[in-house]
Amino acid sequence: MKSFARARACSSIGNVGYGFDVFGLAVDIAADEVEITPGPPGLHLTITGRDAENIPTDPDANSAGRAVLALLAKAGIAPAFNLRINKGTRSGSGLGSSAASAAAAVVAADALLELNLSRTDLTLLAAEGERASAGAAHTDNVAAAIHGGFVIFSNESPPRVATVTPPATLRIVLALPATRVNTKDARAVLPQSVTVPEYSRGAARAALSALALANADIAAFGSCLEGSIFEAARTKLVPGFAAACAASRNAGALGCVMSGAGPTTAAICRADQDAAAIAAALKAGFASAKIDAETFIARSGPPAAVIEARP
Ligand code: ADP
Repeated sequence: MKSFARARACSSIGNVGYGFDVFGLAVDIAADEVEITPGPPGLHLTITGRDAENIPTDPDANSAGRAVLALLAKAGIAPAFNLRINKGTRSGSGLGSSAASAAAAVVAADALLELNLSRTDLTLLAAEGERASAGAAHTDNVAAAIHGGFVIFSNESPPRVATVTPPATLRIVLALPATRVNTKDARAVLPQSVTVPEYSRGAARAALSALALANADIAAFGSCLEGSIFEAARTKLVPGFAAACAASRNAGALGCVMSGAGPTTAAICRADQDAAAIAAALKAGFASAKIDAETFIARSGPPAAVIEARP
C-alpha cells in the first residue's frame, strides 16, 4: 500500500440528448480533487473548496465516501482512511459534481491500495457513490468522469462500454442558471412508458449522435440531440430553458440540450464559430425568464487521473 494518493476528475454532462442514463460527456469546466491516506479505523472525510459547507461529511451520505466504502468492501479491506475532498465543481447544477468526487475518490483509492481495477469496475464503484446524492447508482456521469470524452455505458451484466474521443474542435457552451432542480422532482416527471414510434426515433437519434461524434461531424452530432421525450418532460422544471435553446440556435449553435436533469444547459458548436455570441444568447434566453445565468465555453474533458502518489 502507498502512503498517499491524490486524483482529479472533471465535470460531465449526463444523457447528452437521447442517451438517457447511458451517454456521458466529460467537460473541462471544473474538477474535484480527492486525497486518500491511511488513518484511524473508519472513513474520515474533510471537504474544502466550492460550496464545501453544503456537502455532507458523513461517508454514507457523500458520493466520494460511499464510493470508497464500496471499493473497500469489494477489496475486502476494513476502512481505516482519511479522505480529503477539494471541490472545484458546483454541486447540484446538473454537471456531475457528486460524480466528479466519486470518480476522483475511487481512482485515488485504487492507486493507494495498488488494486489496478479496470475503468469499468471503477465506474461501477463510483456509481455506488451516486446513491448518496441521487438515490440510484446511475452511471452516466461517473462513466464520463472516469473515462473522459464521450462514453456510452450500458449497465448490464457484464457492462458494455464504448468511448469516443470527441474532435478537438468541439466546443460546449454551458449556461448555469441560478435555479435548482430537485433530483426527485426531475425523476418524478419522467414518462414511465414510451410508444413504439418514440422508441424508434430515440434509438435512431442515439445511434446517429454517437456515430456523428465518432466521425468528428459536430454539425450532425448537434442536429441529433434535441427533442427527447425525457428532456421535454423536464422542460417545465427549468424556466428559460426553451428560450435559451432557441436563442442559442439563432446565434449559430448546432444543438442545445439539458445537462442531466438540469438546470445547466449545453449548446454545441465548433471552434471556428462565435462561441461567445452563443453564450450571450443562452444568457439572454434565461434572462427572458428573469433568471440570471453564468456561462462558460468548455471542451471535452480528460479522464480521471492520479496526480500524485507517494510510496
Ligand atoms: P450534481 O449533478 O451536481 O452532482 P446532484 O443533484 O445529483 O447534483 O447532487 C447534489 C446532491 O448531492 C447535494 O444534495 C449534495 O449535498 C450531495 N452530495 C453528496 N456528496 C457530494 C459530493 N461529494 N459532491 C457534491 N455533492 C454531493
